[in-house]
Amino acid sequence: EIRWVAECASTNSALLDAPPADDGRVHVLVADRQSAGRGRRGRPWLSWDDASLTFSALWRFPPGAPAPAGLSLVAGLALARALERLGVPGVQLKWPNDVLVHGAKLAGILVELLPGRGRTLAAVIGIGINLRLPADIDLPAAIPVTALDRVLEQPPGHPPPTRSAVLAAVLGELHPLLDIFAAAGFPPLRSAWQQRNAFADLPVCISGENDTLTGLCAGVDVDGALLLRTGHGVQRVLAGDVSLRPG
Ligand code: ATP
Repeated sequence: EIRWVAECASTNSALLDAPPADDGRVHVLVADRQSAGRGRRGRPWLSWDDASLTFSALWRFPPGAPAPAGLSLVAGLALARALERLGVPGVQLKWPNDVLVHGAKLAGILVELLPGRGRTLAAVIGIGINLRLPADIDLPAAIPVTALDRVLEQPPGHPPPTRSAVLAAVLGELHPLLDIFAAAGFPPLRSAWQQRNAFADLPVCISGENDTLTGLCAGVDVDGALLLRTGHGVQRVLAGDVSLRPG
């Protein structure tokens, strides 16, 4: 079920605040403009009207579905596959929630959970993709930023995909991956995620509220936790309140 609105503060907040009735479908909310788009930990997600695609999907956890850790990686994998299908080469994933091309951020993901009666009822998967960047962009970003029109490889004269086409490509990849995740969790998707790991075997820094860990990125485990090879062996890092940066 897809609802497309002209404006919204945040598509994630709209679905979390007023979740649609459970009718067995995935509910998607797309906004032409977000006035208060969010990243993790309250950071802003910027978008520029028709130069961005911003939407969220509300997915109900079926009975027996795995714990939600890993969902952000599943969404990243779906986004990567959709972009590859549209003609973007070299799509990479930055644990836990960003999509990079040539080391620059093309898209971001924000997964938020809707708890209820002792278990997670639903997840809201928010996705923002830069289609074009305004000339005067001034983003205080930790890593460089890019957009679809800069990285898409297409035959000359071929028009770039419309927002609807990009949306359809992402939803077309997300839906089957959510079915796999519901049935078997993250393990069957782990190797596809690792093939696109932007920092595989590279030095990284994991910074939390109180401390920073450094080591080599050794991939992700079956739950989607980051594996960090340090002088004290391999440590498992949960997404929670930590950020990964090049080391
Ligand atoms: P982390 O690694 O902890 O997720 P992050 O910097 O990637 O850190 P997010 O919460 O994923 O943080 O995304 C929010 C950040 O993304 C903002 O603080 C800003 O630096 C950057 N950002 C905001 N809008 C855009 C955009 N349209 N394109 C690329 N980057 C953006």
